[in-house]
Order: sequence, then structure tokens, then C-alpha cells
Amino acid sequence: MNDGMVLVTGGAGYIGSHMVLALLEAGHEVVVLDNFANSSPVALERVARLAGRAPRCVEGDIRDRPLLDRLFHEHAIADVLHFAGLKAVGESVANPLAYYEHNVGGTVTLCQAMAAAGVKRVVFSSSATVYGEVAEMPLHEGLPAGTPSNPYGRSKLMVEQVLTDLAASDDEWSVALLRYFNPVGAHPSGEIGEDPLGIPNNLVPFITQVAVGRRERLQVFGDDYPTRDGTGVRDYIHVQDLVHGHLAALEVLRERRGVGVWNLGTGRGYSVLEVVEAFERASGRRIPYTIAPRRPGDVAECWTDPSRARQELGWAAELGIARMMADAWRWQQRNPNGYRNM
Ligand code: NAD
Ligand code: UDP
Repeated sequence: MNDGMVLVTGGAGYIGSHMVLALLEAGHEVVVLDNFANSSPVALERVARLAGRAPRCVEGDIRDRPLLDRLFHEHAIADVLHFAGLKAVGESVANPLAYYEHNVGGTVTLCQAMAAAGVKRVVFSSSATVYGEVAEMPLHEGLPAGTPSNPYGRSKLMVEQVLTDLAASDDEWSVALLRYFNPVGAHPSGEIGEDPLGIPNNLVPFITQVAVGRRERLQVFGDDYPTRDGTGVRDYIHVQDLVHGHLAALEVLRERRGVGVWNLGTGRGYSVLEVVEAFERASGRRIPYTIAPRRPGDVAECWTDPSRARQELGWAAELGIARMMADAWRWQQRNPNGYRNM
């Protein structure tokens, strides 16, 4: 269906595995590069089963230039979807150099190998965190980038700058900077989903682990924000909608050069307590919680103005909070320990 393969870095991870499945289903040929630092090869086995065919898999690191050169030499790659990187905010404060090395250094090495191979189309997994603290919602792409509150967020902003400078230096590059809001949920089969190592940092995996009995209770970080019920408000987006946004961006990139910036969210915010309620409705389980102090670095609210993605990518999120919770729950219930100990 197209003129070359799609390289998915980080393709065994949470979002990457859903992306690989969607690409295979859309008829693309796919190569995955992943070092499995935060993922399991089992995810890719399940993707292959669901798709009825397997992606090529290369175990390796985006920081490994000779490996990248071989990979581009051996496969006719037309596009790169770049998900690989480290994403734990707290860990980035404790170990900033690892974050700059993997996220920034790794992307620089990847782009050098791409340039050498003449592959100049890349979709980058950025984050709404690059807007920093903004008083007025919603967030739209016309706002200037802000000051992210931690090294993870700063590494995302730096990569956006690297890619923007690169495209300015060579007009053959086509770059999509996709700023995700809060990806949640899982493939409706319940076969692939989010499988954090250790204690989940993010709200929805924490809730599903409470529901399945792995954790006792949720801590709600702050109930004194200036929001509807005092708890933090976020724009949760189903991972299936998110990956469809990438397919739309890929189509658009094939027709244009330069850098495009698109927010990927639903345009609607839910508070922590509203998410808990939606999960309880979807699962029939009670989620015990206690109110805890605010988490440092958290903003009160964050949601997108989804207009630019709708106008320029012809894409909008379709799945609501009930589906997000039902699918997250199906995945967790079928895989209480994630991809381990099956
Ligand atoms: P994930 O950790 O599940 O996936 C990342 C994958 O990259 C993992 O499979 C990991 O093993 C791999 N990886 C890490 N470092 C690597 C390296 N140096 N070389 C090769 N592979 C490496 O994370 P995810 O939630 O799927 O996120 C994917 C991307 O989206 C990340 O770049 C993340 O920062 C970004 N993002 C995620 C969220 C979110 O809430 N999940 C929000 C905004 C942006
Ligand atoms: N949150 C919470 N308890 C948790 C994890 C998160 O109350 O155990 C809150 C957090 O303060 C924020 C929202 O849930 O208001 C979403 O947090 P998450 O870490 O999932 O995403 P973020 O928007 O911080 O990237």
C-alpha cells in the first residue's frame, strides 16, 4: 500500500504496540526497534496474533549508530514513528542524565542515521508538558512553548527544538511533533495494554491495579485545586484514537515538508474523581481512595483545543471516557500481572 516500510522505535511499549497493530491492520510493512528496557517481547507476539502477521523486530537501542546504519541498510524504510524513550517524571528528576541521553541523545543519533540513509520523515511522540504552566485552558498549538517542570518534559521540548532546527537546515525533512495529552485505555481485545514496571506513576494504571487487588487504595494528589471538585483535570485520550491520529499525521507528512505541530487530545477534561467514578461504573468495582497532598510539578488543569488536528489532519478522537475505562479494565482483568507470569 506504500513505497516503503515504517520503522517504529519503542514499538514494544504501551503506545508503540498499539501503533504497530494499527499499522499492520492498515496494510503497512513494519520494523520495530526496541531495547525492551520498559517492555516485553510478549506484546509483539500478541500484536502478531491479532494482526495475523508479524512485524520485523530488531532488539537494540536508538543510541547505537552502527545498529541503526545496518537497520536502514537492510530495510527499505520510508517513515519513522519515534516512540522510544524514557518517560517517568520522578525518575527524570533523580537521574536527569539518563533522560537527556536516551531522549535527546538517542533522537540525535537516530536522526543522524536517518539523514545518512536519506530517510527524512519522522513523527515524534511529544507531550502537552512542553506548554509548561498555562493559566488559560484550552491549550492550542499557537501558544509558545513554556517551561516544563521536570527533566522529562524538558527533554521533550529539547527534541522538538532539535527536530525544528533540523528541518530548518534541510527542507527535505517532514516532521510531525505530536503533543499527547493523557493516553489511557487498551486495545478492545484486552490482549495488549499498559504494563508499568513497579508502582504506576499514572492515574489509570494505578486505579486498575487497585481494582485487580494489586494495590490497596488510590491516593488522590490534592483536592484543593481551583477545579470543579478540587482534584486535577486532564484530557484523557484512548490509545486507539491516539494511534489513529498518528496514521493521519503520516498521510499528511507524505504530502508536505517542514514541521507540523499537533495536539492529540479529545478537548474535554475530567477530574481525578470523575475518572474514578467512570472506572467504577465501567468495572462494577469500588476504588477506595484517600486524599493526599498535591504532587509537586502537577498543574490544576490541562486540556486541548482539538481544532488544528481536526482541520489539518482530518482526525478527531471518537472514544469517550466509558470506553477508555472499560478497555483499561478488560486488559488489567485478563492480565493481572501484565505481560509477566502468565
Ligand atoms: P513505553 O515506556 O511503554 O514505551 C517506550 C518504549 O521505548 C519501551 O518499549 C522501551 O523499552 C523503549 N525504549 C526506551 N529507551 C529506548 C532506547 N534507548 N532504545 C530503544 N528502545 C528504547 O512508553 P509509552 O507510554 O508507550 O510512550 C511512548 C512515547 O510517548 C514516549 O516517547 C513517551 O515519552 C511519549 N509520551 C507518552 C505519554 C504517556 O502518558 N504514556 C504521554 C506523552 C508522551
Ligand atoms: N493522580 C492521582 N493519583 C495517582 C496518580 C495521578 O491523583 O496515583 C492525579 C494527578 O495528580 C493528575 C492526574 O491524576 O491530576 C493525572 O496524572 P497522571 O500521572 O496520570 O498524568 P499527568 O497529567 O501527570 O501526566
